[in-house]
Amino acid sequence: MYNPGHILKHPCPECGGELILRNSKYGLFYGCANYPKCDGSHGAHKKTGEPLGIPADKPTKQSRIEAHNLFDKLWNGPEATMRRKEAYKWLARTMDLDKDNAHISKFSKEQCDKLIKILTKELKT
Ligand SMILES: [Zn+2]
Repeated sequence: MYNPGHILKHPCPECGGELILRNSKYGLFYGCANYPKCDGSHGAHKKTGEPLGIPADKPTKQSRIEAHNLFDKLWNGPEATMRRKEAYKWLARTMDLDKDNAHISKFSKEQCDKLIKILTKELKT
């Protein structure tokens, strides 16, 4: 449980400033101390303030969303070929990561781009 005002150990990916836990009508999130000059932010669990993954700049965030949308198709929806648990095992194996790091919210831009390439192929076949 984290309280508003808590400072994240990772700096703002946009400007290097501090990321501070704040409350909004949507729940808790980490916002840059240099707001409104900088609109860097990082996701938190809405109620506990637990940071979600590793902070990333906007291009990385965008790639994570894209990678996640493709990845979810492996186990969810009409193209699904495996169960959710199997999909995460596949992810760890494919990306050569251990279970704790096989989460797209922790991926770098390079890791996302690699995964997107692999998934685009995987989903076509
Ligand atoms: Zn910032």
